Amino acid sequence: MNGIKEVLAPYEGVTVDCPDCGMPALVAGTPVVCRFCYRTWTDAESATADYVYADMVRRAALDPRDNEEALVHWCPRCDTPTIIDVERDWSFYLCLGCAAVFDTLIWCKKGCGSLIDPKTNDFDICPACMARLRENT
Ligand SMILES: [Zn+2]
Ligand SMILES: [Zn+2]
Ligand SMILES: [Zn+2]
Repeated sequence: MNGIKEVLAPYEGVTVDCPDCGMPALVAGTPVVCRFCYRTWTDAESATADYVYADMVRRAALDPRDNEEALVHWCPRCDTPTIIDVERDWSFYLCLGCAAVFDTLIWCKKGCGSLIDPKTNDFDICPACMARLRENT
């Protein structure tokens, strides 16, 4: 176990629990790699699905209403469903695909269920809804 802390130091903040071995050594980015068991996901989407599933199983006793759909979100930066709500309290979001970290994400004003980054989006409307609005006018 010695040494893993040093190995993970540069990835602090973009590391979550590995769905396979359970160690907090899963480093976001493409590919998604666990620095402990060395499992590698070349596809960040399936890494996200595996993470969310493992996390759900772990917390199932706490909140049976949990479901995968509500826990995976589209990343406003890389436009892939790879955002996870790490602390489950809407305080810290990590994209497993592009390793972007967000402390504030808000829901699209159109109610489509997409998350947007208020720092890079002045309209509070996601790109998909924006495109739809433009088509209709
Ligand atoms: Zn692992
Ligand atoms: Zn991303
Ligand atoms: Zn939207």
